[in-house]
Amino acid sequence: MTSLIDRYDLILLDIDGVLVLGQQPIPGAAETVAAVRTKGVPLRFTTNSPRRRPGEAAEMLNKAGIKATADEVVTPTGIAAATLAQRLPPGAAVLVVGSDALRDEVAAVGLKPVNSADDRPQAVVQGFAPTIDWPSLAEAALTLQRPETLWLATNLDETWPSERGPVPGNGAFIAALTAATGREPDLSVGKPEPTLFHQQARAHNAQHPLVVGDRLDTDIEGGRRAGFDTLLVLTGVTTPGMLANSDVHPTYIGESITHLLAEPAALTDAVRR
Ligand SMILES: [Mg+2]
Repeated sequence: MTSLIDRYDLILLDIDGVLVLGQQPIPGAAETVAAVRTKGVPLRFTTNSPRRRPGEAAEMLNKAGIKATADEVVTPTGIAAATLAQRLPPGAAVLVVGSDALRDEVAAVGLKPVNSADDRPQAVVQGFAPTIDWPSLAEAALTLQRPETLWLATNLDETWPSERGPVPGNGAFIAALTAATGREPDLSVGKPEPTLFHQQARAHNAQHPLVVGDRLDTDIEGGRRAGFDTLLVLTGVTTPGMLANSDVHPTYIGESITHLLAEPAALTDAVRR
């Protein structure tokens, strides 16, 4: 039987809301990933979440029963650090609001991660981590009072899907700083920016990648900007009501990632019945 994945030469899978909710596997995710591997179609886990290193994300997926390796996980932290390195002099201080994974990437490109506005950082880089607290937001607000400070976000997702429902994501913490400073980030490098998708397509010499995600404003809009087909799944933050009111239209709509194995004709009607 023909399934959706037979049409594509690279599958770019979001993690949160597609494969897992929190750390709990979404029903059918493990079997679907295994089936994609059996078919020999390459896949990459393209997450907007900067809170884990690729190895940590792969470990979380493996614990949830979903086979993954570190080199298959793509996060926006590397692109964020590379972008900072292009814009700042070597050794420049950068205030990191986020995870140790993000801090490591900043150090790896020859910049100096710092925690205080008193260190005169030339940039603020902000990516979600569950450990972000008021003192780190306060240091960022004080740093951003200097108008020449560059403010770079890994991503703008307002929420991420936990086991118990949507909870504040990077965009929510950015909104707190916007309220406090009157500024908005100068740029964001994660989805819907197409950089990460284009990098992966080039690396795999793929002509017809498929982007799979649960968010219209990041995954699906990012796929559209990249020029790739998209599958929206309804296991994460997007509800049928949100979809009905959106200007962003996926190529396919499925109840879950298991629809990767469905016949293509069955997909677009999934929520329009
Ligand atoms: Mg997601």
